[in-house]
Amino acid sequence: TIPALSKIKVTTDEVDLGQDNAGDSQSSAVLLPQLHTKIPNVVNSKGNYLYTDDGLEILDATGGAAVACIGHNNPRVKAAIVDQLDKIEYCYSQFFTTPPVEKLSRYLTESTGGLMSRVFIVSSGTEAIEAAIKMARQYFTELPEPQLQRIRFIARKQSYHGNTMGALGTGSHVARRAIYEPMLSPHVSHVSACYPYRGKNDSESDASYVARLAQELEDEFQRVGPDTVCAFVAETVAGATLGAVPPVPGYFAAMKEVCTRHGALFILDEVMSGMGRTGTLHAWEQEGVTPDLQTVAKGLGAGYMPIGALLIGKKVVDVLDHGSGAFVHSQTYQGHALACAAAYEVQAIMQEEDLLANVREMGDYLGISLQQRLGSHPNVGDIRGRGLFWALEFVKDKEKKEPFPAKSQLAKRLQATGVQKEFCISLIPGNGTADGKDGDHIILAPAYNTTRAEIDTIVDRTEKVIKAVLG
Ligand code: PMP
Repeated sequence: TIPALSKIKVTTDEVDLGQDNAGDSQSSAVLLPQLHTKIPNVVNSKGNYLYTDDGLEILDATGGAAVACIGHNNPRVKAAIVDQLDKIEYCYSQFFTTPPVEKLSRYLTESTGGLMSRVFIVSSGTEAIEAAIKMARQYFTELPEPQLQRIRFIARKQSYHGNTMGALGTGSHVARRAIYEPMLSPHVSHVSACYPYRGKNDSESDASYVARLAQELEDEFQRVGPDTVCAFVAETVAGATLGAVPPVPGYFAAMKEVCTRHGALFILDEVMSGMGRTGTLHAWEQEGVTPDLQTVAKGLGAGYMPIGALLIGKKVVDVLDHGSGAFVHSQTYQGHALACAAAYEVQAIMQEEDLLANVREMGDYLGISLQQRLGSHPNVGDIRGRGLFWALEFVKDKEKKEPFPAKSQLAKRLQATGVQKEFCISLIPGNGTADGKDGDHIILAPAYNTTRAEIDTIVDRTEKVIKAVLG
Protein backbone atom coordinates (compact mmCIF):
# COMPACT_ATOMS: atom_id res chain seq x y z
CA THR A 1 0.00 0.00 0.00
CA ILE A 2 1.18 3.53 -0.71
CA PRO A 3 1.57 5.59 2.45
CA ALA A 4 -0.47 8.79 2.53
CA LEU A 5 1.75 11.62 1.33
CA SER A 6 1.31 13.56 4.55
CA LYS A 7 2.80 10.66 6.46
CA ILE A 8 6.04 10.50 4.49
CA LYS A 9 8.76 12.05 6.59
CA VAL A 10 12.11 13.15 5.32
CA THR A 11 14.66 11.87 7.78
CA THR A 12 18.31 12.48 8.36
CA ASP A 13 18.65 9.12 10.11
CA GLU A 14 20.58 6.25 8.61
CA VAL A 15 18.48 4.59 5.92
CA ASP A 16 17.62 0.94 6.49
CA LEU A 17 17.82 -0.73 3.11
CA GLY A 18 15.82 -3.67 4.42
CA GLN A 19 16.98 -5.76 1.50
CA ASP A 20 16.77 -9.00 3.39
CA ASN A 21 13.04 -8.57 3.02
CA ALA A 22 13.21 -8.17 -0.75
CA GLY A 23 9.74 -8.25 -2.20
CA ASP A 24 8.37 -6.71 0.98
CA SER A 25 6.88 -3.25 0.43
CA GLN A 26 9.11 -1.97 3.27
CA SER A 27 12.36 -2.87 1.41
CA SER A 28 14.61 -0.45 -0.46
CA ALA A 29 12.77 1.94 -2.74
CA VAL A 30 15.77 2.03 -5.05
CA LEU A 31 15.51 -0.10 -8.16
CA LEU A 32 18.53 -2.30 -7.54
CA PRO A 33 20.27 -4.06 -10.43
CA GLN A 34 18.93 -7.39 -9.29
CA LEU A 35 15.65 -7.16 -7.49
CA HIS A 36 16.36 -9.81 -4.90
CA THR A 37 20.02 -9.43 -4.03
CA LYS A 38 21.69 -7.60 -1.22
CA ILE A 39 24.35 -5.22 -2.45
CA PRO A 40 26.74 -3.30 -0.22
CA ASN A 41 25.54 0.02 1.11
CA VAL A 42 28.45 2.48 0.75
CA VAL A 43 28.25 5.18 3.38
CA ASN A 44 31.69 6.75 3.14
CA SER A 45 34.87 6.86 1.09
CA LYS A 46 38.45 8.03 1.14
CA GLY A 47 40.96 7.95 -1.69
CA ASN A 48 40.60 4.60 -3.38
CA TYR A 49 38.57 2.95 -0.63
CA LEU A 50 34.82 2.59 -0.08
CA TYR A 51 33.31 2.05 3.39
CA THR A 52 30.07 0.14 3.84
CA ASP A 53 27.49 0.31 6.60
CA ASP A 54 28.58 -3.11 7.82
CA GLY A 55 32.16 -2.03 8.34
CA LEU A 56 33.90 -3.23 5.17
CA GLU A 57 36.76 -1.31 3.58
CA ILE A 58 36.55 -2.13 -0.11
CA LEU A 59 39.40 -1.33 -2.48
CA ASP A 60 37.78 0.39 -5.43
CA ALA A 61 39.81 -1.25 -8.19
CA THR A 62 37.40 -0.05 -10.85
CA GLY A 63 36.43 3.49 -9.88
CA GLY A 64 32.83 2.28 -10.05
CA ALA A 65 32.32 1.75 -13.77
CA ALA A 66 35.77 3.14 -14.73
CA VAL A 67 34.71 6.56 -13.50
CA ALA A 68 36.34 7.62 -10.19
CA CYS A 69 39.75 8.28 -11.71
CA ILE A 70 41.22 10.55 -9.02
CA GLY A 71 39.84 8.65 -6.03
CA HIS A 72 36.95 9.58 -3.78
CA ASN A 73 36.31 12.48 -1.46
CA ASN A 74 38.86 14.80 -3.02
CA PRO A 75 38.93 18.07 -1.04
CA ARG A 76 39.88 20.23 -4.03
CA VAL A 77 36.95 19.04 -6.12
CA LYS A 78 34.57 19.43 -3.20
CA ALA A 79 35.79 23.00 -2.69
CA ALA A 80 35.40 23.79 -6.39
CA ILE A 81 31.80 22.56 -6.32
CA VAL A 82 30.99 24.62 -3.20
CA ASP A 83 32.70 27.67 -4.67
CA GLN A 84 30.58 27.41 -7.81
CA LEU A 85 27.49 26.75 -5.70
CA ASP A 86 28.11 30.08 -3.99
CA LYS A 87 27.99 31.82 -7.39
CA ILE A 88 25.48 30.12 -9.67
CA GLU A 89 24.46 26.47 -9.63
CA TYR A 90 22.66 26.33 -12.94
CA CYS A 91 21.38 28.46 -15.71
CA TYR A 92 20.03 27.40 -19.05
CA SER A 93 22.80 27.03 -21.58
CA GLN A 94 20.52 28.00 -24.47
CA PHE A 95 20.23 31.49 -22.96
CA PHE A 96 23.47 31.96 -21.01
CA THR A 97 26.99 30.70 -20.66
CA THR A 98 29.01 30.51 -17.42
CA PRO A 99 32.75 30.60 -16.62
CA PRO A 100 33.02 26.86 -15.79
CA VAL A 101 31.36 25.85 -19.09
CA GLU A 102 33.69 28.16 -20.97
CA LYS A 103 36.79 27.00 -19.08
CA LEU A 104 36.03 23.30 -19.46
CA SER A 105 35.14 23.63 -23.15
CA ARG A 106 38.31 25.59 -23.87
CA TYR A 107 40.39 23.03 -21.98
CA LEU A 108 38.86 20.22 -24.06
CA THR A 109 39.38 21.90 -27.42
CA GLU A 110 42.94 22.93 -26.50
CA SER A 111 43.68 19.36 -25.40
CA THR A 112 43.16 18.35 -29.03
CA GLY A 113 45.28 21.19 -30.42
CA GLY A 114 42.08 22.68 -31.81
CA LEU A 115 41.33 19.64 -34.00
CA MET A 116 38.10 19.32 -32.09
CA SER A 117 36.95 22.91 -32.07
CA ARG A 118 33.63 23.00 -30.20
CA VAL A 119 32.17 21.11 -27.25
CA PHE A 120 28.60 20.15 -26.29
CA ILE A 121 28.39 19.23 -22.62
CA VAL A 122 25.74 16.82 -21.37
CA SER A 123 25.20 14.68 -18.28
CA SER A 124 26.22 11.15 -19.34
CA GLY A 125 27.98 9.02 -21.92
CA THR A 126 24.71 7.92 -23.49
CA GLU A 127 23.61 11.51 -24.02
CA ALA A 128 26.95 12.29 -25.65
CA ILE A 129 26.44 9.43 -28.12
CA GLU A 130 22.87 10.53 -28.86
CA ALA A 131 24.23 14.00 -29.59
CA ALA A 132 26.94 12.53 -31.84
CA ILE A 133 24.38 10.59 -33.88
CA LYS A 134 22.22 13.66 -34.37
CA MET A 135 25.19 15.93 -35.06
CA ALA A 136 26.42 13.56 -37.79
CA ARG A 137 23.02 13.61 -39.46
CA GLN A 138 22.74 17.39 -39.20
CA TYR A 139 26.19 17.83 -40.76
CA PHE A 140 25.04 16.14 -43.96
CA THR A 141 21.84 18.19 -44.10
CA GLU A 142 23.82 21.44 -43.89
CA LEU A 143 26.59 20.76 -46.37
CA PRO A 144 26.62 23.36 -49.15
CA GLU A 145 25.19 20.54 -51.25
CA PRO A 146 23.14 18.60 -48.70
CA GLN A 147 23.32 14.80 -48.73
CA LEU A 148 19.90 13.98 -47.33
CA GLN A 149 20.15 10.33 -48.29
CA ARG A 150 22.76 9.79 -45.56
CA ILE A 151 20.76 8.16 -42.78
CA ARG A 152 22.76 5.02 -41.95
CA PHE A 153 25.37 4.22 -39.33
CA ILE A 154 27.85 1.39 -39.33
CA ALA A 155 28.96 0.32 -35.85
CA ARG A 156 30.66 -2.81 -34.56
CA LYS A 157 29.61 -6.14 -33.20
CA GLN A 158 30.10 -6.60 -29.44
CA SER A 159 29.91 -2.85 -28.93
CA TYR A 160 28.18 -0.79 -26.26
CA HIS A 161 27.31 2.86 -26.68
CA GLY A 162 24.66 3.43 -24.01
CA ASN A 163 21.13 2.51 -23.19
CA THR A 164 18.68 5.05 -24.61
CA MET A 165 17.01 4.03 -27.85
CA GLY A 166 19.43 5.71 -30.28
CA ALA A 167 22.53 4.65 -28.36
CA LEU A 168 21.20 1.14 -27.74
CA GLY A 169 20.33 0.85 -31.42
CA THR A 170 23.88 1.85 -32.34
CA GLY A 171 25.54 -0.70 -30.08
CA SER A 172 25.13 -4.40 -30.53
CA HIS A 173 24.79 -5.80 -27.04
CA VAL A 174 22.53 -8.75 -27.83
CA ALA A 175 21.02 -9.18 -24.35
CA ARG A 176 20.43 -5.48 -23.74
CA ARG A 177 18.84 -5.01 -27.16
CA ALA A 178 16.73 -8.18 -27.11
CA ILE A 179 13.32 -7.01 -25.87
CA TYR A 180 13.59 -3.64 -27.66
CA GLU A 181 14.87 -5.08 -30.94
CA PRO A 182 11.71 -4.39 -32.98
CA MET A 183 11.83 -0.75 -31.90
CA LEU A 184 15.50 -0.07 -32.66
CA SER A 185 16.76 1.78 -35.73
CA PRO A 186 16.81 -0.32 -38.89
CA HIS A 187 19.48 2.03 -40.23
CA VAL A 188 22.38 0.66 -38.17
CA SER A 189 24.48 -2.33 -39.20
CA HIS A 190 27.47 -3.92 -37.53
CA VAL A 191 30.86 -5.13 -38.70
CA SER A 192 33.35 -7.22 -36.72
CA ALA A 193 35.10 -5.56 -33.81
CA CYS A 194 38.89 -5.54 -33.67
CA TYR A 195 39.17 -8.36 -31.13
CA PRO A 196 42.37 -10.29 -31.78
CA TYR A 197 41.82 -12.95 -29.08
CA ARG A 198 38.82 -14.37 -30.93
CA GLY A 199 38.90 -12.55 -34.26
CA LYS A 200 42.46 -12.91 -35.51
CA ASN A 201 43.64 -16.19 -36.99
CA ASP A 202 46.78 -17.73 -35.51
CA SER A 203 48.63 -17.53 -38.81
CA GLU A 204 47.53 -13.97 -39.54
CA SER A 205 49.79 -10.90 -39.10
CA ASP A 206 48.40 -7.70 -37.59
CA ALA A 207 48.60 -6.11 -41.03
CA SER A 208 46.56 -8.79 -42.73
CA TYR A 209 44.01 -8.82 -39.88
CA VAL A 210 43.61 -5.06 -40.29
CA ALA A 211 43.31 -5.43 -44.07
CA ARG A 212 40.58 -8.04 -43.58
CA LEU A 213 38.61 -5.79 -41.18
CA ALA A 214 38.99 -2.80 -43.50
CA GLN A 215 37.70 -4.93 -46.38
CA GLU A 216 34.72 -5.97 -44.25
CA LEU A 217 33.92 -2.30 -43.60
CA GLU A 218 34.34 -1.52 -47.29
CA ASP A 219 31.98 -4.39 -48.16
CA GLU A 220 29.42 -3.08 -45.68
CA PHE A 221 29.57 0.40 -47.22
CA GLN A 222 28.99 -1.20 -50.62
CA ARG A 223 26.16 -3.38 -49.32
CA VAL A 224 24.18 -0.50 -47.81
CA GLY A 225 25.19 2.07 -50.43
CA PRO A 226 28.30 4.15 -49.67
CA ASP A 227 26.51 7.48 -50.07
CA THR A 228 23.82 6.55 -47.53
CA VAL A 229 26.19 6.28 -44.56
CA CYS A 230 26.46 9.13 -42.04
CA ALA A 231 29.22 7.61 -39.95
CA PHE A 232 31.17 4.66 -38.66
CA VAL A 233 31.10 4.46 -34.84
CA ALA A 234 33.57 2.59 -32.62
CA GLU A 235 35.01 2.54 -29.12
CA THR A 236 38.72 3.37 -29.37
CA VAL A 237 39.53 0.75 -26.74
CA ALA A 238 36.52 -1.55 -26.45
CA GLY A 239 35.20 -1.57 -22.90
CA ALA A 240 31.84 -2.52 -21.49
CA THR A 241 31.13 -5.52 -23.70
CA LEU A 242 34.54 -6.91 -24.61
CA GLY A 243 36.57 -5.67 -21.66
CA ALA A 244 39.57 -3.44 -22.40
CA VAL A 245 40.52 -4.56 -25.91
CA PRO A 246 43.03 -2.18 -27.50
CA PRO A 247 43.03 -2.08 -31.32
CA VAL A 248 45.88 -3.73 -33.20
CA PRO A 249 48.33 -1.21 -34.73
CA GLY A 250 47.01 0.48 -37.84
CA TYR A 251 43.39 -0.63 -37.32
CA PHE A 252 41.82 2.80 -36.86
CA ALA A 253 43.90 4.43 -39.59
CA ALA A 254 42.58 1.78 -41.99
CA MET A 255 38.98 2.19 -40.81
CA LYS A 256 39.15 5.97 -41.10
CA GLU A 257 40.54 5.69 -44.60
CA VAL A 258 37.46 3.72 -45.68
CA CYS A 259 35.15 6.33 -44.09
CA THR A 260 36.97 9.26 -45.63
CA ARG A 261 36.97 7.66 -49.08
CA HIS A 262 33.17 7.37 -48.89
CA GLY A 263 32.60 10.81 -47.39
CA ALA A 264 31.26 9.38 -44.10
CA LEU A 265 32.15 10.74 -40.68
CA PHE A 266 34.38 8.85 -38.24
CA ILE A 267 33.04 8.80 -34.66
CA LEU A 268 35.07 7.54 -31.71
CA ASP A 269 33.27 6.70 -28.48
CA GLU A 270 35.74 7.38 -25.69
CA VAL A 271 33.18 7.42 -22.89
CA MET A 272 35.11 4.69 -21.10
CA SER A 273 38.55 4.68 -22.71
CA GLY A 274 39.05 8.45 -22.95
CA MET A 275 40.09 11.27 -20.62
CA GLY A 276 43.32 9.59 -19.58
CA ARG A 277 42.20 6.03 -18.87
CA THR A 278 44.60 4.51 -21.42
CA GLY A 279 47.56 6.79 -20.68
CA THR A 280 46.92 9.71 -23.02
CA LEU A 281 44.12 12.20 -22.52
CA HIS A 282 42.44 10.97 -25.69
CA ALA A 283 42.82 7.32 -26.58
CA TRP A 284 42.94 8.21 -30.30
CA GLU A 285 46.26 10.01 -29.76
CA GLN A 286 47.87 6.55 -29.67
CA GLU A 287 46.23 5.53 -32.95
CA GLY A 288 47.46 8.35 -35.18
CA VAL A 289 43.92 9.30 -36.18
CA THR A 290 41.60 12.15 -35.27
CA PRO A 291 37.85 11.55 -35.08
CA ASP A 292 35.32 13.89 -36.65
CA LEU A 293 33.18 13.51 -33.54
CA GLN A 294 34.24 12.17 -30.17
CA THR A 295 32.35 11.32 -27.02
CA VAL A 296 33.82 11.40 -23.51
CA ALA A 297 32.28 11.02 -20.06
CA LYS A 298 33.55 8.89 -17.22
CA GLY A 299 37.06 10.29 -16.66
CA LEU A 300 35.87 13.80 -17.43
CA GLY A 301 34.17 14.41 -14.10
CA ALA A 302 35.59 11.41 -12.22
CA GLY A 303 32.16 10.79 -10.71
CA TYR A 304 31.95 14.04 -8.76
CA MET A 305 29.11 15.17 -10.97
CA PRO A 306 27.26 13.44 -13.82
CA ILE A 307 28.89 14.79 -16.99
CA GLY A 308 29.67 13.78 -20.55
CA ALA A 309 30.62 15.69 -23.66
CA LEU A 310 30.58 15.61 -27.42
CA LEU A 311 33.76 17.01 -28.96
CA ILE A 312 33.11 18.29 -32.46
CA GLY A 313 35.76 18.31 -35.16
CA LYS A 314 36.57 21.49 -37.02
CA LYS A 315 35.29 20.07 -40.30
CA VAL A 316 31.80 19.60 -38.79
CA VAL A 317 31.85 22.92 -36.91
CA ASP A 318 32.74 24.81 -40.10
CA VAL A 319 29.74 23.33 -41.91
CA LEU A 320 27.32 24.17 -39.09
CA ASP A 321 28.79 27.65 -38.71
CA HIS A 322 28.07 28.30 -42.38
CA GLY A 323 24.74 26.53 -42.14
CA SER A 324 22.11 27.02 -39.46
CA GLY A 325 24.71 28.03 -36.88
CA ALA A 326 22.96 25.95 -34.24
CA PHE A 327 22.70 22.34 -33.20
CA VAL A 328 19.13 21.07 -33.62
CA HIS A 329 19.29 19.45 -30.21
CA SER A 330 19.26 20.75 -26.65
CA GLN A 331 18.81 19.51 -23.14
CA THR A 332 17.79 21.38 -20.00
CA TYR A 333 20.91 20.37 -18.10
CA GLN A 334 23.45 20.78 -20.87
CA GLY A 335 26.54 22.66 -19.71
CA HIS A 336 25.54 22.40 -16.05
CA ALA A 337 27.66 24.90 -14.11
CA LEU A 338 28.33 22.68 -11.08
CA ALA A 339 29.18 19.67 -13.21
CA CYS A 340 31.58 21.75 -15.32
CA ALA A 341 33.25 23.30 -12.25
CA ALA A 342 33.81 19.84 -10.78
CA ALA A 343 35.12 18.42 -14.04
CA TYR A 344 37.45 21.36 -14.61
CA GLU A 345 38.97 20.85 -11.17
CA VAL A 346 39.35 17.11 -11.82
CA GLN A 347 41.22 17.93 -15.03
CA ALA A 348 43.38 20.52 -13.26
CA ILE A 349 44.38 17.89 -10.70
CA MET A 350 45.17 15.37 -13.43
CA GLN A 351 47.44 17.90 -15.15
CA GLU A 352 49.12 19.37 -12.05
CA GLU A 353 49.84 15.97 -10.54
CA ASP A 354 50.95 14.54 -13.91
CA LEU A 355 48.59 11.64 -13.36
CA LEU A 356 48.77 10.40 -16.94
CA ALA A 357 52.44 9.53 -16.45
CA ASN A 358 51.33 7.47 -13.46
CA VAL A 359 48.60 5.82 -15.56
CA ARG A 360 51.26 4.69 -18.06
CA GLU A 361 53.72 3.51 -15.42
CA MET A 362 51.22 1.81 -13.10
CA GLY A 363 49.32 0.47 -16.11
CA ASP A 364 52.41 -1.34 -17.36
CA TYR A 365 53.03 -2.64 -13.86
CA LEU A 366 49.43 -3.86 -13.51
CA GLY A 367 49.59 -5.63 -16.88
CA ILE A 368 52.88 -7.35 -16.05
CA SER A 369 51.69 -8.33 -12.56
CA LEU A 370 48.44 -9.82 -13.88
CA GLN A 371 50.36 -11.75 -16.50
CA GLN A 372 52.85 -13.11 -13.95
CA ARG A 373 50.28 -14.08 -11.37
CA LEU A 374 47.36 -15.21 -13.50
CA GLY A 375 48.72 -15.84 -17.01
CA SER A 376 49.06 -19.56 -16.42
CA HIS A 377 45.73 -20.06 -14.63
CA PRO A 378 43.87 -22.75 -16.60
CA ASN A 379 40.74 -20.60 -16.92
CA VAL A 380 42.36 -17.28 -17.76
CA GLY A 381 42.22 -17.21 -21.56
CA ASP A 382 43.37 -13.67 -22.24
CA ILE A 383 44.84 -10.74 -20.32
CA ARG A 384 44.63 -7.47 -22.23
CA GLY A 385 44.49 -3.76 -21.73
CA ARG A 386 46.20 -0.41 -21.96
CA GLY A 387 47.00 2.21 -19.34
CA LEU A 388 44.97 1.57 -16.20
CA PHE A 389 42.33 -0.35 -18.12
CA TRP A 390 42.83 -4.12 -17.99
CA ALA A 391 40.64 -7.17 -18.41
CA LEU A 392 40.88 -10.91 -17.86
CA GLU A 393 38.76 -13.13 -20.11
CA PHE A 394 37.84 -16.52 -18.66
CA VAL A 395 37.40 -19.75 -20.55
CA LYS A 396 36.38 -23.26 -19.65
CA ASP A 397 38.90 -24.72 -22.08
CA LYS A 398 42.00 -22.66 -22.79
CA GLU A 399 43.03 -24.56 -25.93
CA LYS A 400 39.62 -24.25 -27.57
CA LYS A 401 38.90 -20.80 -26.04
CA GLU A 402 35.55 -22.26 -25.04
CA PRO A 403 33.55 -19.88 -22.82
CA PHE A 404 31.77 -20.96 -19.66
CA PRO A 405 28.03 -21.35 -20.28
CA ALA A 406 26.29 -17.95 -20.10
CA LYS A 407 23.91 -19.25 -17.44
CA SER A 408 26.79 -19.88 -15.03
CA GLN A 409 27.08 -16.06 -14.74
CA LEU A 410 30.77 -16.40 -13.94
CA ALA A 411 31.65 -12.70 -14.22
CA LYS A 412 28.78 -11.68 -11.96
CA ARG A 413 29.81 -14.31 -9.43
CA LEU A 414 33.38 -12.99 -9.44
CA GLN A 415 32.12 -9.46 -8.87
CA ALA A 416 29.76 -10.52 -6.07
CA THR A 417 32.52 -12.56 -4.43
CA GLY A 418 34.91 -9.60 -4.59
CA VAL A 419 32.75 -7.45 -2.33
CA GLN A 420 32.52 -10.12 0.39
CA LYS A 421 34.48 -9.42 3.55
CA GLU A 422 37.23 -11.98 2.80
CA PHE A 423 38.20 -10.13 -0.39
CA CYS A 424 37.05 -6.49 -0.31
CA ILE A 425 37.72 -5.55 -3.91
CA SER A 426 35.41 -4.16 -6.57
CA LEU A 427 35.62 -5.73 -10.05
CA ILE A 428 33.60 -4.84 -13.18
CA PRO A 429 31.91 -7.95 -14.61
CA GLY A 430 31.05 -8.48 -18.28
CA ASN A 431 30.52 -11.23 -20.77
CA GLY A 432 30.66 -9.99 -24.35
CA THR A 433 27.16 -9.29 -25.51
CA ALA A 434 25.78 -12.01 -23.20
CA ASP A 435 24.97 -14.32 -26.11
CA GLY A 436 27.34 -17.02 -24.89
CA LYS A 437 29.88 -16.56 -27.71
CA ASP A 438 32.55 -14.65 -25.81
CA GLY A 439 34.05 -15.54 -22.46
CA ASP A 440 33.10 -13.83 -19.23
CA HIS A 441 35.54 -11.13 -18.24
CA ILE A 442 36.34 -8.79 -15.40
CA ILE A 443 37.74 -5.30 -15.84
CA LEU A 444 40.17 -3.55 -13.53
CA ALA A 445 40.24 0.23 -13.84
CA PRO A 446 41.97 1.75 -10.80
CA ALA A 447 42.23 5.48 -10.22
CA TYR A 448 44.97 7.37 -12.07
CA ASN A 449 46.74 8.14 -8.77
CA THR A 450 46.97 4.49 -7.78
CA THR A 451 50.21 3.49 -6.07
CA ARG A 452 52.40 0.46 -6.66
CA ALA A 453 51.33 -0.90 -3.24
CA GLU A 454 47.67 -0.57 -4.25
CA ILE A 455 48.34 -2.37 -7.52
CA ASP A 456 49.96 -5.21 -5.52
CA THR A 457 46.86 -5.40 -3.32
CA ILE A 458 44.56 -5.34 -6.36
CA VAL A 459 46.43 -8.22 -7.97
CA ASP A 460 46.55 -10.21 -4.69
CA ARG A 461 42.84 -9.80 -4.07
CA THR A 462 41.86 -10.44 -7.69
CA GLU A 463 43.85 -13.68 -7.63
CA LYS A 464 42.19 -14.67 -4.36
CA VAL A 465 38.72 -14.03 -5.79
CA ILE A 466 39.48 -16.04 -8.93
CA LYS A 467 40.85 -18.94 -6.91
CA ALA A 468 37.84 -18.87 -4.59
CA VAL A 469 35.42 -19.09 -7.52
CA LEU A 470 37.35 -21.18 -10.05
CA GLY A 471 39.94 -22.97 -7.96
N1 PMP B 1 29.70 4.35 -24.42
C1 PMP B 1 30.60 3.55 -23.82
C2 PMP B 1 31.80 3.11 -24.59
C3 PMP B 1 30.43 3.16 -22.50
O1 PMP B 1 31.34 2.37 -21.92
C4 PMP B 1 29.29 3.62 -21.80
C5 PMP B 1 29.04 3.23 -20.35
N2 PMP B 1 29.63 2.08 -19.92
C6 PMP B 1 28.38 4.44 -22.46
C7 PMP B 1 28.62 4.79 -23.78
C8 PMP B 1 27.16 4.95 -21.76
O2 PMP B 1 27.53 5.90 -20.80
P1 PMP B 1 26.55 6.25 -19.58
O3 PMP B 1 26.35 5.01 -18.81
O4 PMP B 1 27.28 7.35 -18.85
O5 PMP B 1 25.29 6.76 -20.17
